[in-house]
Amino acid sequence: MSQNNSIENLLQIQDPNIICTKVDNSNPDKQVVYAKLTNSLSTCPLCGQSPVVRFGTNLVNVRIPPIKERPVILKLAKQRYQCKSCQRTFSAQTSLVKPHCQISEDTNRMIILSLTKDRNISDIANELNVSPVAVNRVIEKLATQTKTALTTLPTVLCFDEFRSTGHQMSFIAVDGQSHRLVSVLPDRLNRSIKKHFKGNYSEQERHKVKTVVMDFNAQYQSVIHELFPNAKIVADNFHLVQMGLQAINQTRIQLMHHFSKDTKEYRILKHHWRLFLKFYDDLEKRKPQWFPHLKDWKTQEQLVVAGLNIDSTFQHTYFIAHGLTEALRNRDYRHFIQVLNNPGTVSPQLETTIKTYRKYLTLIKNMMACQYSNGPVEGVNRKIKQIKRTAYGYRNWSHFHTRIRIEFTIKITKKKPIRK
Ligand SMILES: [Zn+2]
Repeated sequence: MSQNNSIENLLQIQDPNIICTKVDNSNPDKQVVYAKLTNSLSTCPLCGQSPVVRFGTNLVNVRIPPIKERPVILKLAKQRYQCKSCQRTFSAQTSLVKPHCQISEDTNRMIILSLTKDRNISDIANELNVSPVAVNRVIEKLATQTKTALTTLPTVLCFDEFRSTGHQMSFIAVDGQSHRLVSVLPDRLNRSIKKHFKGNYSEQERHKVKTVVMDFNAQYQSVIHELFPNAKIVADNFHLVQMGLQAINQTRIQLMHHFSKDTKEYRILKHHWRLFLKFYDDLEKRKPQWFPHLKDWKTQEQLVVAGLNIDSTFQHTYFIAHGLTEALRNRDYRHFIQVLNNPGTVSPQLETTIKTYRKYLTLIKNMMACQYSNGPVEGVNRKIKQIKRTAYGYRNWSHFHTRIRIEFTIKITKKKPIRK
């Protein structure tokens, strides 16, 4: 193997028409490699006639992937040809770099790979010795490629929302079974949702959706009935439990403000709010712990009981709310109805929650009859948040949206270190 051939091997240049002639290492900031590109052409690609003759060279500075974080510039002398028959001239072509481009295809592939890894644009641009504009160009190109084939719908859809660009709330739909991302829309307006599903899916396809899980505070119900006539609407368990716990919290805060800040009651209610949201059964009942705000040793149970003894309505509210959330968690409809129908005297906050529960009882009943929740959306939402964070805020929805799609649709298998 000649020495020149080993340069091409190290640079992973696969085109046999490229011959490296010299490597210049004198500049510490970059490595310059000189190379020639020739095609052994006999006929003209433009008119199909022969003969063609050599007609000088065309020098292109191609950026190929860096080696040890040091940029590599490939000074590629492309052979030019002239056709004797049509007189037109053209350059030799290579798979290494597209015509009129200065960024190699390998570098472009590395940009795509980096984009799937949730890294910010300037960081990628810097590492691969390209401008942020070049990275954005790759994103725009991927926008069309990652557009999901909008033809089929899953039987279970999870609807949720997330805070996206600016203060806007965006809409998200996830397949409840495969956890695949189905749609992301810039806003959560009913007409946008309608337009999206009606525009992209046939009526027949929409009829296939059997279950839609959603937080019932979101006003999607009428749209869901219209778009997916066969779908049962299921209230999201997590949101329901949150509502119950929130009622306890608000009741606690209101009670706390009846006491001045230097009282024991205030301190019990103020500093250990988390314990009141814990299931009574999960509280530590044997091992005392030091509560610095009370300067006392108590078990978690003793502390909660001390708090509940402050006010009988608070105490009753606490047990009713926990009874409801427990039934929700266990998907125990009978128990839920039992508690819901005889709540006794509870705080106004829990009363409001109970009213809401009663209003959406069908959705809660549907939830208890199945195992679906918006859990899959939480995972997707977490990843979107992560994308937003590394991106330092996207002002442009379409770039943000594409980035989400890139990270969700281009799957890279995780590699293990290669040791041998
Ligand atoms: Zn020709």
